[in-house]
Amino acid sequence: MPSELNTDFLIIGAGFSGLVAAHQLSQAGWKCVVVDRRNHLGGNAYDGYDAAGVLLHHYGPHYFRTNSPRIVEYLSAFTEWREVAYTIKSHVQGRLWSFPINLNTYEELIGRAAESEEFQEWLERNRLPIESPQNSEEVILSQVGHQLYEMFFEGYTMKQWQRHPRELDRSVCGRIPIRTNRDDRYLTENFQALPKAGYTKMLEKMLDASPSVQLFLNMDAAEARAKWNYKYLIFSGAIDDFYQKKFGPLPYRSLRFEPESFTAGQLAERQKLLGENAAPDGFWQTAMQINYPEQNVPWTRIVEIKHATGQQIDATTIVREYPKDWTPDDEPFYPVPTLESQAIYRRYQELATAEQNVTFIGRLATYRYYNMDQVTGMALTASQNLIQRFGTQL
Ligand code: UDP
Repeated sequence: MPSELNTDFLIIGAGFSGLVAAHQLSQAGWKCVVVDRRNHLGGNAYDGYDAAGVLLHHYGPHYFRTNSPRIVEYLSAFTEWREVAYTIKSHVQGRLWSFPINLNTYEELIGRAAESEEFQEWLERNRLPIESPQNSEEVILSQVGHQLYEMFFEGYTMKQWQRHPRELDRSVCGRIPIRTNRDDRYLTENFQALPKAGYTKMLEKMLDASPSVQLFLNMDAAEARAKWNYKYLIFSGAIDDFYQKKFGPLPYRSLRFEPESFTAGQLAERQKLLGENAAPDGFWQTAMQINYPEQNVPWTRIVEIKHATGQQIDATTIVREYPKDWTPDDEPFYPVPTLESQAIYRRYQELATAEQNVTFIGRLATYRYYNMDQVTGMALTASQNLIQRFGTQL
């Protein structure tokens, strides 16, 4: 039965991409309905307080960063920022290493002080002469050689993707910077900050500033498409779902999160036990994130996000991440960029490009390992194109 409910735009997915598009279209006077199959907005950036009172990123750490002043300016209408120099460590051979690889890592490797020039020469001698790296193994070997690749990348990548780095696009390990100075920040972008009150609050504010937008939770795409008459569809779900997997399923990786909370008393006990290796008061580990590349540990990383949020609270929560293949019971977190999956994606993309009244945005709909700022940029551009095409309703 065709429904009596009408909207201009139906937007599937209330994550960054769907909400940004809805906000922009609403500014142009268009009526939008946004639906999400989960019981909350924000997609995987959704955050909130756990039973211990700790502000957690429910779907793994989301470290906002960007080089785009336009995106900072846009999001700043909905949040203040807390600047954070995201720093992490890697746990290898029973000890912590400075990571991403930088001059400190080299000093830890050779057990004495060194200068940048020495490390550069070491890298020249050890790196493999691969002119245009074709995959994630080559991209790291061409920069640092076998020893550091095997210590920090090979095992982690095998665990995270259940594929060898040589099967993965170069952009996967290529995301990680390698430096010969002492800059040990995990990320390189010039703006690195978290929304002060969290992502959920920021996105709620964006929605509040979108008067002609209605949000419906716990509703999947099929139900929404049957329920509303709409002029145009914006889809931010998985593209193979949109086309009923007619060219076969695209692979996704997922994660299982295992949170563990500690009271102030438990943290004080732990401090006594660990002595000089202990974390500062109120923390369980010495860094916001510790990576575990070795295969004999089943998790890839332990994140204690309180280091980054700066929340003033005695308790803390750490979260261990266990990678797994996506099944219909999981959230799909990562597209898997192999040659094979790219070939399947291109077939879907061809259909997507030919659609007259559907736009595909976001990590899942474009099958790209995009960060939050890139997704925001994509949604801004897509909605501006739509406003150019359809004009405004003001
Ligand atoms: N990676 C690695 N060792 C590390 C950290 C990252 O081999 O210690 C590789 C791994 O393949 C990972 C990719 O680099 O999936 C990207 O890492 P990032 O931390 O950006 O992943 P995300 O936070 O998006 O899961």
